[in-house]
Amino acid sequence: MLSKKKLGDYKKILQSRLGELLNEADRAVKDISETESETSSDPTDQAVQELDRSRLLRFKDRERKLIRKIEKALNRIEEGTYGGCEACGAPISEARLKARPMTTLCIDCATEMESEEAKSKLFGGEIGEAYDSDGEEGGDEEANTA
Ligand SMILES: [Zn+2]
Repeated sequence: MLSKKKLGDYKKILQSRLGELLNEADRAVKDISETESETSSDPTDQAVQELDRSRLLRFKDRERKLIRKIEKALNRIEEGTYGGCEACGAPISEARLKARPMTTLCIDCATEMESEEAKSKLFGGEIGEAYDSDGEEGGDEEANTA
């Protein structure tokens, strides 16, 4: 079980990460509306804008997922279930929590979900929401150096 102090540490990490993400999301929304308010008759410009826009939307979708994960992790800290695997109940290793503080699955279950996900893609299923892809959380690597 994680000590109160450690939980507090993870909470701080998660909250600051959440703050950053919300700031970025704000900026992205502003960028989109600024782009939209600019009227350009040049078709090349418009194509570029479309490209930027879809890239932003993809970025936002990714961020939104991450924000949800972080909010969930914070809830789990409040509930006292943080640090335990959501699927099997086993404690998640601290090395894993340090690297990915928003994870809700132990490494075994995450690996299993990953292969389930691969299978479900083949059959067009939708296990995707429960999927805690390690690759999907790219950009968290800085947490490793903390
Ligand atoms: Zn597990």
